[in-house]
Amino acid sequence: AVRPLIAGNWKMNGLKDSVAELDAMLKGAAELPQGIDLLVCPPATLVASFAARVAEAQAGKALPFSIGGQDCHANASGAHTGDIAAEMLADAGAAAIIVGHSERRADHAENDAIVRAKAQAVWRAGLVAIVCVGETQGERDAGHTLDVVAGMLAGSLPDGATAANLVVAYEPVWAIGTGRTPTAADVEEVHGFIRKTLSDRFGAAGETMRILYGGSVKPSNARELLAVPHVNGALIGGASLKASDFLAIAAGC
Ligand code: 13P
Repeated sequence: AVRPLIAGNWKMNGLKDSVAELDAMLKGAAELPQGIDLLVCPPATLVASFAARVAEAQAGKALPFSIGGQDCHANASGAHTGDIAAEMLADAGAAAIIVGHSERRADHAENDAIVRAKAQAVWRAGLVAIVCVGETQGERDAGHTLDVVAGMLAGSLPDGATAANLVVAYEPVWAIGTGRTPTAADVEEVHGFIRKTLSDRFGAAGETMRILYGGSVKPSNARELLAVPHVNGALIGGASLKASDFLAIAAGC
């Protein structure tokens, strides 16, 4: 079985005092059933302090909890004011970086080629790339969901993906922050399609790469979504800001 990953994307939320929430997550994580990986992706300003806090909590314990970034530049350094390199996030203690989130694609005009370059940068820095794909409401209504997802996977995933360096997150744009989720049958269709696409392209590695579902995951729907075949965890926005919700979702694995 593929080891589940429960990941929180804090987006543009969190200040220094949010460490209290992280502490509550670390405390609760120690009581979860074994075999679940947890990841929190706070804003870049908090990555170093959060990673240090996690390392402290892990001293002498096997606690599968890590900190990640939400985006990176494709280059390792240079004249790119305001941008952050994957190497910098690695240096701050990040273990993974989300790339190609629909909010980056929409707000910063990131296309598949840019996302692919960013995923390669994540690997160059030795981290795990979490690559997001997903259709808009209009694309779903037009019956184009699988075509859109296929195009995004083909364009955004670099060659050389392994089960250790890549996580794919399926996030239907219309389900993000809306309280609406696809039916379990719809999620199964898309995740099954992503699984087949990954194994066709990457061979055996594609069978065990983790495929996360994201979009309005909360404690009340997590168990059903996480039970869908080829759903290997969740990428959680709003509900990952509260330790109690985040832990309750993880408990649904
Ligand atoms: P919500 O869980 O707030 O819908 O956000 C999902 C998401 O975009 C995670 O990356």
